[in-house]
Amino acid sequence: MTVLTIENLRTTLRLDSGDCDALREVSFSVDEGETLAIVGESGCGKSMLAMSIMGLLPSIATISEGHVVLGSRAIEAEPEAAMEKVRGAEIGMVFQEPMTALNPVFTVGSQIAEPLRDHLGLSRAEARKTAIDLMERVRIPSAASRYDSYPHEFSGGMRQRVVIALAIACRPKLLIADEPTTALDVTVQRQILDLLDTLQDQEKMGMLLITHNLAIVAGHADRVVVMYGGDVVEQATVRDLFRSPAHPYARALLASLPRVDRDLSELASIPGRVPPLAKLPDGCRFIDRCPHAMDVCGKMPPAVELGQGTRHTVRCWLHVEGGSDAAVG
Ligand code: SF4
Ligand code: MG
Repeated sequence: MTVLTIENLRTTLRLDSGDCDALREVSFSVDEGETLAIVGESGCGKSMLAMSIMGLLPSIATISEGHVVLGSRAIEAEPEAAMEKVRGAEIGMVFQEPMTALNPVFTVGSQIAEPLRDHLGLSRAEARKTAIDLMERVRIPSAASRYDSYPHEFSGGMRQRVVIALAIACRPKLLIADEPTTALDVTVQRQILDLLDTLQDQEKMGMLLITHNLAIVAGHADRVVVMYGGDVVEQATVRDLFRSPAHPYARALLASLPRVDRDLSELASIPGRVPPLAKLPDGCRFIDRCPHAMDVCGKMPPAVELGQGTRHTVRCWLHVEGGSDAAVG
């Protein structure tokens, strides 16, 4: 079953210099129990995508085309009051910095209990008991006795466990994890990712895992969407992408291996950087950095499927039959 479908999504920003599409023609889906990684350098549109899905876009941004479909329901035009319910109950969210999700003046237990009362209608006593169960499930030691602790009394890793307990409290079908471990040290990172894997298996949630770290993609995702300049430039299973990347950008990313844990912001194999939003090219947005750029690349390339039923797609004129001739014609 599909838990999230993104259909031809366009998110437009109103800038002083004019409108610009921060996301263009973005399409993909996430199945029950599946982890889809969204990967790319900072500025590639990953977080804009997460905000578009969750209805948390800044006021200068709007979804100008396409759909965000949760299960079978399009939510991109829902009013804020409805989106608050969606975010509390149907989409769980885990961000890089746990303190953005936690309120420093309330106890961790009461914060986990709150959505259980608001969205599931549990009584105070039931919510407390369920919150303690959730704290145990995310492996917070001595959960019952830590119910009344405050976030500042927890380590970064323990705080992220609290956020995860909060995210899964209402048993959402979809979990969005945006750089969930970037702020944590390596050992804790692994524990948190393993915990997410376990909970996902138990709950059969679909997970959108946003990361710039290819080792995390290799270890924890089923499929990958590679983004560049607000476009999905390639999507494939993890195995297909690592074996046979097709887009010049994806190839360059993978050429930075074997240092798979390298931060993409340090990527040295592609000269240049992601173009700023106000200067995004109309055609292929990788054109300034691409060693294969042709005249036709001044037009936006279509997404092409590589092999039937592979769900491996690439958006690059090199893979369009007769693509380079289109320049002349
Ligand atoms: Fe390079 Fe052209 Fe392909 Fe863009 S469309 S990645 S510029 S070859
Ligand atoms: Mg998994």
